[in-house]
Amino acid sequence: MVGIDIEGLATVYPNGVRAVDGLDLSVADGEFFALLGPSGCGKTTLLRTIAGLEPASEGTVRIDSADVTRLEPGKRGVAMVFQDYALFPHMTVSENITYPLKVRRVAPATRTAVAERTSGELSLQGLLERRPGQLSGGQQQRVALARAIASKGKVLLLDEPLSNLDARLRLEARTFLKKLQKDLGITTVFVTHDQAEALALADRIAVMQSGKLRQLGSPREVFARPANTFVANFIGSTPMNLLTGTVASGGSVSIAGGSLPAATGSVPVGAEVTVGVRPEYLTLSIGDVSGPSIRGSVVVAENLGTQSLVSVECDGTLIGVTVPEEHEPDPGATVVLTASESRVLLYDKE
Ligand code: ADP
Ligand code: MG
Repeated sequence: MVGIDIEGLATVYPNGVRAVDGLDLSVADGEFFALLGPSGCGKTTLLRTIAGLEPASEGTVRIDSADVTRLEPGKRGVAMVFQDYALFPHMTVSENITYPLKVRRVAPATRTAVAERTSGELSLQGLLERRPGQLSGGQQQRVALARAIASKGKVLLLDEPLSNLDARLRLEARTFLKKLQKDLGITTVFVTHDQAEALALADRIAVMQSGKLRQLGSPREVFARPANTFVANFIGSTPMNLLTGTVASGGSVSIAGGSLPAATGSVPVGAEVTVGVRPEYLTLSIGDVSGPSIRGSVVVAENLGTQSLVSVECDGTLIGVTVPEEHEPDPGATVVLTASESRVLLYDKE
């Protein structure tokens, strides 16, 4: 069981920046775990602290149940792929892949065998004698992965490994990486600032902001039930509607001149709240509906492919709702928005 357990971890740079600011999290054996957050939130620092490349200022890191907090990087059993791949330009692909084995004085024949096997796993056959400068971006990225895998680390740490690839290659590499990780079953921490990538790849996602954990959950959980407005804003390809509302009686909230059903629980009637509802979870109808609803008029519709994102003005507030492209209403049309109670989230007013 090769898990990673992080407790009370802080990493403070000499200039006083608390890049990781008191983190607790556990990565399970064989899990594909994503660290997601905006640029500068401390993702790389956290990964480097797990690897031992930055010293922890507070707290502990355990790998495979052993406390490695004070252990040097080479003794932690981790393999890391850096954002810029960090390949050696003067070495061949084969030499790059087996460099960690050479450092450990593994015999040349064994190294050759490992290079051949790993190049097969990463679709690099026929490229072993080339130098990094003679490879495409996607191939370089796979060489960096091959080197990490060949080093036989117990855990794989990947710092934005797909961010230097163009959009199409990135999608291909995503699928490839997910399959490889499942085939190898290696515990993996994957850093990204791209919420779609994290949702597509990870078993679980830790959303970070300013060195702190804001939510930890499955892709489904962080998408459908963001724990706070930061996560709500950050996750989803169309932004969540975050509207000021007032708790009304009978399990509903008043917003934008209308109302939506909501699990108001112990929040008192009359309390001001922030109401979150994803455009994907609102239903747009023409004509009257029963139950709580919001009435408005269509301002503009934006094509998203098979869906359209419709902006509806409701009592001075713009609300986004996605509809199938063929049901896109005309600008100016009067429409009614509804949602089911489980899709309407309430946050403390900030
Ligand atoms: P991310 O990978 O999420 O973009 P980083 O871990 O690179 O974030 O950076 C987190 C914070 O730490 C930022 O404020 C950044 O400016 C700061 N930082 C990163 N590296 C250093 C360093 N070597 N010295 C001082 N501050 C740093
Ligand atoms: Mg980074």
